[in-house]
Amino acid sequence: MVNTAPARTETPTKTAKRPARPNGQWKVDGPAPLNHNEEFKAESDPLEVRDRIERIYAKEGFDSIPGDDLHGRFRWWGLYTQRKPGIDGGKTATLEPHELEDKYFMLRVRIDGGALSTEQLRVIAGISTEFGRDSADITDRQNIQLHWIEVEAMPEIWRRLEAVGLSTTEACGDVPRVILGSPVAGVAKDELIDPTPVIEEIQKRFIGDPALANLPRKFKTAITGHPSLDVVHEINDVSFVGVEHPERGIGYDVWVGGALATTPRFAERLGAFVSAEEAPEVWHGVVSIFRDYGYRRLRNKARLKFLLADWGVEKFREVLETEYLGYRMTDGDAPPTPAELGLAERGDHIGVHEQHDGRFYVGAAPTVGRVAGENLARLADVAEAHGSRRVRLTPLQKVLVLGVTQDQVEPLIADLDELGLHARPSLFRRNTIACTGIEYCKLAIVETKATSAEAITQLEERLGDLKDLKPLTLHVNGCPNSCARIQTADIGLKGQLVMDDDGNQVPGFQVHLGGGLASVERDDAGLGRTVRGLKVTADGIGDYVERVVRRYDADHDGAE
Ligand code: SF4
Repeated sequence: MVNTAPARTETPTKTAKRPARPNGQWKVDGPAPLNHNEEFKAESDPLEVRDRIERIYAKEGFDSIPGDDLHGRFRWWGLYTQRKPGIDGGKTATLEPHELEDKYFMLRVRIDGGALSTEQLRVIAGISTEFGRDSADITDRQNIQLHWIEVEAMPEIWRRLEAVGLSTTEACGDVPRVILGSPVAGVAKDELIDPTPVIEEIQKRFIGDPALANLPRKFKTAITGHPSLDVVHEINDVSFVGVEHPERGIGYDVWVGGALATTPRFAERLGAFVSAEEAPEVWHGVVSIFRDYGYRRLRNKARLKFLLADWGVEKFREVLETEYLGYRMTDGDAPPTPAELGLAERGDHIGVHEQHDGRFYVGAAPTVGRVAGENLARLADVAEAHGSRRVRLTPLQKVLVLGVTQDQVEPLIADLDELGLHARPSLFRRNTIACTGIEYCKLAIVETKATSAEAITQLEERLGDLKDLKPLTLHVNGCPNSCARIQTADIGLKGQLVMDDDGNQVPGFQVHLGGGLASVERDDAGLGRTVRGLKVTADGIGDYVERVVRRYDADHDGAE
């Protein structure tokens, strides 16, 4: 596979003059806001909108909410306005936000590390059935996203979530978003280090901290100590990956500056080893660099990856050590890839796996992350009926039930199956993920969830005859953003309008091929490439993937 990481943006040399136009870096250019987004963040701390929601908007309703709160600050509490049903994708770019939206919200529940108790699961399920028309999607950032939420319900929703230790704090917005954590943290037999203490420490000390609530844009974190590298660490702003240091023992290798969207870029290693005790401070230092030096003038250049591209890792590490940490970090080596370890499975944790305590965890696949609220309540019942009170969500839109005794494994699998959660799914159900799409997302051009589900069903019917198929990942996005990480899939589909055979404009997808992360099949992971001119209509996905798979099956060479 060819690594098609984009060329770096203009790399300044030491002698380069400051650009004529300031980039909006607070420590270089000062804090004057250079665009409207920066203005509303400077005007009042976005986290303070919670108070206005509880005191005013929940009582006076949707129409009482001013624009900067509605389309800006609400995100800091996990709330996005939802797309009005029936507006076709061709109008997405031409209508104003208020013309695209309804009085309803999407609400993201923040679940750091994807870790839930059955009690917490029941509370989310209750909110979904009572306030969200039974909607619930597991996102590929281990959140649960609800829909059809009205502002009037928010005080009661927060009361219920917070009573069981859940929150929507900084679930969206220009903030440190939910922390991706290994879904098998603390239980896996082959885990190198349990990242739970680091996740909890960051959560406790820094999430909701006003000093970190005005970043240039979103900031994503991932932490794992599992050798299958199960948190897509290559595409987060900062990642900590479990590794053993010859003198200091087990800790983390630090990566910075990964992100996808329209200018994808893999994270780079700082070449530094940190202990579990050091990791939260180092995390804080990296976020602080982003806050102080990140570019704020243009939102499409405001992610950490652009600063890293200009600085390079050496300067980034130097600034981190001298201006933020006050000490030199220990040099460290990269963790081995799963391929180097000879791991036989991808890090999606589907199926039955032994834990370090002799019990088992069972990973099951819903279809592209869609689960109803009612089914979440039944999942809590099923888990408890088989002796578990712990559930985890994964960055691949999957569910794990932890801590099951051997005799309960098969009965649990049978019950999960009835909920549409398959512990032995087809390769297509297992390896397909999809973003929210036009059903709810105002940026979407095409539908994604039902389209993907239909394609999975077709592929299961048509390709059931092929034996020993290699896993093939299919990621489906509803627009050029990359919420479903299309550049990291074998086949990535980017939503757009395309021409069908009769010359009509219909929903469809641009095809990206050959992406991947540090998976077990290959160690030359790279970002997928757009295949120029290769587009499929939404109802042609099954045909297209079938052709690719049959040709691959007929032509591939050995372990290729
Ligand atoms: Fe919405 Fe586009 Fe993200 Fe899909 S990829 S959820 S359509 S912004």
